[in-house]
Amino acid sequence: MELFPTQMSIISLFALPSGLKMTSLSHQEGRLCVSLLSTQPVSHCPMCGSVATRIHSRYQRRLTDLPSTGQPVRVLLAVRKFFCDMPTCPRKIFTERLAPLVAPSARMTVRLFQSYEPHGHSDEQAHHSPVYHGTAHRAGRTYYPAWH
Ligand SMILES: [Zn+2]
Repeated sequence: MELFPTQMSIISLFALPSGLKMTSLSHQEGRLCVSLLSTQPVSHCPMCGSVATRIHSRYQRRLTDLPSTGQPVRVLLAVRKFFCDMPTCPRKIFTERLAPLVAPSARMTVRLFQSYEPHGHSDEQAHHSPVYHGTAHRAGRTYYPAWH
C-alpha cells in the first residue's frame, strides 16, 4: 500500500485540462500556488485560424482557481504570444488561447466562474464580480470567452 501520493496523483488532484503541465506547486500565505505551462507546440490564430509556431513573447497571468482540499488556489499561468504568419491576416500577434482553463481576459478559471452558475443570486454576483472581466455569452449555457 502506498502511503504517500506520487507526483502523478497530486497533479490529477487538480484535474487540469489537457495541454497544460504543472511546473511547480508550493504553499504560500495560506494558499496553494500552482505554476502551469502550456505544452501545446503551436497555437491557432483566433482571427484567421492558421497555425502559428513562432513565439513573440511570454508573460505570466495570476488566476484564482477553485479551492482544493479546502484551501484557496492561486494559478500562475505562463502564457505565450505568437506571431501570425498569414500575410493577409490583420492580427499580427496574438495571445494563445487556453480555452478549457481560462478566458483571455478573465482573472479566474472557467471552472471557478462556472461554479457560481447553478445558484440564482450568486450567479448574478459572478457576472458583476470585479474579479471577472471576461464576457460570457450564455446561450445554451455554453461558455464562449470573447476576444479582447
Ligand atoms: Zn491570423
